[in-house]
Amino acid sequence: MKYRRLPHTGQEISIIGLGGSALGSAGEKEIISTLETAFEAGVNYFDMAAGDQRLFAPYGKVLSSCRQKAFLQVHFGAVYDQNGKYGWTLDLEKIKKSVSRQLELLKTDYIDFGFIHCIDELSDLKKAEKTINYIKELQSQKVVHSIGLSTHTPHIALEMIDLLDMLMFSINPAYDYQNGKYAIGSQGERMDLYRKCQAKGVGISVMKPFGGGQLLSGDTSPFKTALSRYQCIRYALDRPGVVTVLPGIRGLEDLKNVLGYLDAGEEETDYSVLATFAPSEAEGKCVYCSHCHPCPAGLDIGLINKYYDLSKAGDELAKDHYLNLEKKASDCIGCGHCDARCPFHVHQSAKMAEIKEYFGK
Ligand code: SF4
Ligand code: SF4
Repeated sequence: MKYRRLPHTGQEISIIGLGGSALGSAGEKEIISTLETAFEAGVNYFDMAAGDQRLFAPYGKVLSSCRQKAFLQVHFGAVYDQNGKYGWTLDLEKIKKSVSRQLELLKTDYIDFGFIHCIDELSDLKKAEKTINYIKELQSQKVVHSIGLSTHTPHIALEMIDLLDMLMFSINPAYDYQNGKYAIGSQGERMDLYRKCQAKGVGISVMKPFGGGQLLSGDTSPFKTALSRYQCIRYALDRPGVVTVLPGIRGLEDLKNVLGYLDAGEEETDYSVLATFAPSEAEGKCVYCSHCHPCPAGLDIGLINKYYDLSKAGDELAKDHYLNLEKKASDCIGCGHCDARCPFHVHQSAKMAEIKEYFGK
């Protein structure tokens, strides 16, 4: 497993975590063996927005021996009916009851990440004020350790960004590149959000990395061509600010498949084919895919571009990170290899001159 550090807390979080939406109906035995396998593989980040309340008790059984190794995202706003089916509410009394029941089933008395759950409208954000105050109160009592928000709306995330340690946001190529057709926000607005999160030290945990499974089939993908799970995971992990990707697995087989990402090679994860799906939106913009590597002068072209974009977006640390790189834009020999290789038609040799000018090196 690989880990990324959450800037505000320094916690090391596994780049692959577990979404909770689909696992609850798998049955206790399957849930337990899935969780045990996940822990053995080094997964330590778990989203608890379950589609089915039957998810919680098996988690409680597994966590009883390893609670300290797990980070849980618990959602203030996810409630469950008498049949255990998920529902959404802004009613604080129902939220308190639901969170208390979840903690009881999880056999824990603390919440690593207390999430304001699924706020997509400004009007709902206003109505969630009491819930937000309640989460803050629990944080002051050390019941909630960090505060998160789940949303699909960039401007809601930006409105809340100063309060957050973690943002749960839906990221995949279709949502990013279809300019609001399948998700909220243009490509520019969405990238701006990712960069601002990184600049502010807010981690992003990614939901819907496969677009609810639609991207995995040519029949359902808006691009009319299937992407693989590994291409989608790498795409999400390459976005600025992203700490972990949380696929909504249905059981052990899905988990093993997703964990295969850790051993996948360059060819399996390369998503540069996107340039042929979304040419107008993608044209000329570096997406940090590294398809143009290796650079004969040893530059990490994707990373250099990421630090450049982040620095321009106000990330004060990005300049430091850039200046600490062994090879900088000033080392570019202008060979043009990257220009010829880039499927997104970025004129990278010229960009390196621009980056050198910006950072002075
Ligand atoms: S220049 Fe092109 S190929 Fe290279 S990292 Fe950027 S988008 Fe990818
Ligand atoms: S043009 Fe510069 S950045 Fe691109 S491959 Fe050549 S040396 Fe590397």
